[in-house]
Parts: sequence; structure tokens; C-alpha cells
Amino acid sequence: MIDTHAHVNFNAFKDDFDDVIKRGLAQNTQIINVGSQLSTSKRAIDFAKQYANCFASIGLHPIHLQDMLVEEEGEKFTTRKEDFSYEAYKELAKQPKVIAIGETGLDYWHLNNNEPAAVAIARQKQVFAEHIKLANELNLPVIVHCRGLPTHGFGKASAYDEILEELTKQPPENGGIMHCFGGLIDLVEKFVDLGLYISFNGILTFDKTGHIADILRATPDDKILTETDCPYLTPEPHRGKRNEPAFVEFVIKKIAEIKGMTFDKVDELTTNNAKRLFAI
Ligand SMILES: [Zn+2]
Repeated sequence: MIDTHAHVNFNAFKDDFDDVIKRGLAQNTQIINVGSQLSTSKRAIDFAKQYANCFASIGLHPIHLQDMLVEEEGEKFTTRKEDFSYEAYKELAKQPKVIAIGETGLDYWHLNNNEPAAVAIARQKQVFAEHIKLANELNLPVIVHCRGLPTHGFGKASAYDEILEELTKQPPENGGIMHCFGGLIDLVEKFVDLGLYISFNGILTFDKTGHIADILRATPDDKILTETDCPYLTPEPHRGKRNEPAFVEFVIKKIAEIKGMTFDKVDELTTNNAKRLFAI
């Protein structure tokens, strides 16, 4: 199994990261810890050095481009504005087991009121473009985050259309991941054509609308990946608890159920897909 998007490098795990990582690894789950700013990118690299079968992705998440109070599934935290330093991340990427750039992308959900949204969004696009440039320079895939405006339903998922436009302007030469994709079904093919994989997490297990299951059905088998996005988005049957890499098995179970495949087949498929993308 492989958790292609974990944040054991976040503060939610500061007291027990060792137990959490070991629980995941004990289940034969490879773990990619994804950085959201310089400090968490460095911690992801520390874990990659410390544990076998742990890897790191480094990048600056769009919510770290402004100071803001973020509320996520009942948890509140304040982000500190950070400027993207191409050279600093390029230097970090020289460390062993850095296998991707991100997470990066567009987040129209979390925007503060200190400046016009258009200014914040222009900055997000520019920083996103720099991440793709870095990934292309270093021959790495890119991990993409995209979240739309709260007022936009599935019919007007503008953040997804706009990220598609950015990716078309400067395609990631080594592929990448649309992580936690929730846009329109028609867009799946367009992202796949640009070399992106689609990764699925706990939302698949508790989404009552069936939209994420439809996205799964629209995704070619060789483009499906699994992730947890822990500590968030805990899958059933553990809703209410903090998420962790060991829970990726529940995502695999759900994919197997929806696609009418065995657990082992989905495990093999998603693990091989991740190995191909990340060259691990
Ligand atoms: Zn994430």
C-alpha cells in the first residue's frame, strides 16, 4: 500500500509521530510526507532520512501565501505568510528521497480579507507556476492542491478550470497528482491528458453525493492513486478520530468495492501506479 499524501510532518503528530509512522510501515504502507511550507518540508525530509519506505515532497501550499486563521474539520490554526524562494526549495530538493514538488496549487476557499481576492489569486498562480518550473528543472512530478470557492458548486468549479489553464500553459513534464480532486467529471480526462494522476482518500468513504465515486469511475485504472491527507479526512469507519497513514487500507477497500475488484488487485494497481510516477 502507499499513502501518497500524508502530513505526519504536521504539529498534529508532534507527540507521537514515531508510533504513527511505525504503525503505517508495519502494515507495509509506504509513506510520502508532503510539505506545506519550508519548515514542514524540512520535517518531511527528516522523516525520509530516518525511516525506510518514507519519502518527502517539498513545497509551499497556497494557504501559506497569506496570514490567516484556518478552520479545518473543527481544528483551528493560524498560517504565517511565507514568500516562495525558488532557490531555497531547489537546495532542499537535493536531499535524498525528495521525490516530488508540492503541495502547490490554488485555494479559493481559504482567502483572507486583507487584500482583494484577485491579488491573492494572482499570487497563487504565480507561485504555482514557479513550482511547476522547479519540478521540470529537477525532473520531478508535482503534487497539486485545488479547492474552489465555497459559493461554487460542481457546476461552476472555477478553481479547477483555472488550474487546468495554468497546467496547460506550463505542463508538468514528469507528471503529477491532482490530490483530493473534487471538480467536474469532464475535467478528469483533461488532467489525465496532461500527465496527472488522480488520488483518492477518505472522502470516497463518506461522500454521500456519490460524486467522488463517479470521479473514480471516470479515472483510468493506471492513473488511480491512494492517499490519506492525514491528519484530515479520516475514512470510515474511523470518522471523528485523527487520520493516519495506516488508514489508507480503508480507501483501498472502498475503491475495491466501487470498482468490483479485490483488495489485493487495487493494492497492487495503486502501488505500481505510485512507483511508476515517483520512480521509487
Ligand atoms: Zn495536503
